[in-house]
Amino acid sequence: MAGAEIFDNAEIKAISDVIQRRMIHRYGSHDFRKGQYRVDEFEEKAAKLTGAKYALALSSGTAALIVALKGIGVKPGDEIITSPFTFIATVEAIVACDAVPVLGEIDATLGLDPASLEKFITPKTKAIMPVHMFGVAADMDGILAVAKKHGLPVVEDACEVVGGTYKGRYLGTIGVCGTWSFDPNKTLTVGEGGIVLTSDEDVYHKMEYYHDHGHVHSKEHDRGADAKSGLGVNYRMGEIEGALGLVALDKMQYALGLLRATKKKIIDAGVAAGLTPRPMNDADGDTASHVIFMMPTADAAKKFQAATKEAGCGAAIIAENTWHYAKHWKALEDMGGKDFFGTKAPSYAPSTMAQSDAILSRAVMFGLGIVMDDAAVDKIINAVKVGARAAL
Ligand SMILES: *Cc1c(COP(=O)(O)O)cnc(C)c1O
Repeated sequence: MAGAEIFDNAEIKAISDVIQRRMIHRYGSHDFRKGQYRVDEFEEKAAKLTGAKYALALSSGTAALIVALKGIGVKPGDEIITSPFTFIATVEAIVACDAVPVLGEIDATLGLDPASLEKFITPKTKAIMPVHMFGVAADMDGILAVAKKHGLPVVEDACEVVGGTYKGRYLGTIGVCGTWSFDPNKTLTVGEGGIVLTSDEDVYHKMEYYHDHGHVHSKEHDRGADAKSGLGVNYRMGEIEGALGLVALDKMQYALGLLRATKKKIIDAGVAAGLTPRPMNDADGDTASHVIFMMPTADAAKKFQAATKEAGCGAAIIAENTWHYAKHWKALEDMGGKDFFGTKAPSYAPSTMAQSDAILSRAVMFGLGIVMDDAAVDKIINAVKVGARAAL
């Protein structure tokens, strides 16, 4: 999972053009730009591609999440329900808004479980934030139904699934707003960058102003004379990242095609060996960045892991993943019981994630490269077969 694998002359050309024009920043300097607005073009391209009315480019996926929450009006002390299986940036974005992360549970697809949501909804709940993890959509129909019943907006953390879809719609365009990341570990990268997608005009303008010190971004006059709508921050994207983003979007289907072909080979081999792949809410929209099998028990997962390691290509057990599973986040656990502007943070003790733990401790995983030769794929396939024999 790393977009730089597919860099070629197109990125070099895109960047050198920006450098030669000496216009590496996004806003202002209209008289000197000679029509260069790469970040604007990147946003337009992302919006057109996804069918979202608006796209706002940002300095990172984390910034995109913060801006999305600000855009829907999250205030200090609000509660946001999200998944315990995510990257910590989701939780950090909530905390950066002085709001309280409330961790729900995941279901068998490894996305936020709609059936778990109601027990976490309180009068302070402000939004539901599903995360589409390791290529696969959360159960959006189920989540939207609960959200609608309670009048709550849904913000999708789609940072990992650029190009992924659910029932024909791009992930990130199904809730009120959704975020994509272009960090170095994602399928498409610009170095550091993110995008928020939305079709809500009011939310878009709030996000757009907030991400750049409240500026209203008139092209009529220069930045110094620009009107300000209020206070904000600086999460702007630069023109180099915008130029890279334009190239990245051109390569999206190519990258997804490679990943999907590789994943299919490994899944087919695993199924032939008796393994059960991770169930998906919409297999057609999978971005195929990871191969995951569900073992019958946690013990079988451990045996699979040991055997694959022995075979020279060790699978990870997701429950042990310190990057993506909240059970391991000491900083979060320490926050339990703390006061957030009148709202007490819940306990984030590992024992509160029992349902998720039971699922993630049976999930074994291989990450995929975008460009993998036959030998690299065969190595995983061999490990899968060896692991299946040892574990089943
Ligand atoms: C990568 C990621 C983010 C944050 O994106 P950055 O661009 O690295 O800030 C947020 N959420 C999830 C689920 C991610 O995987």
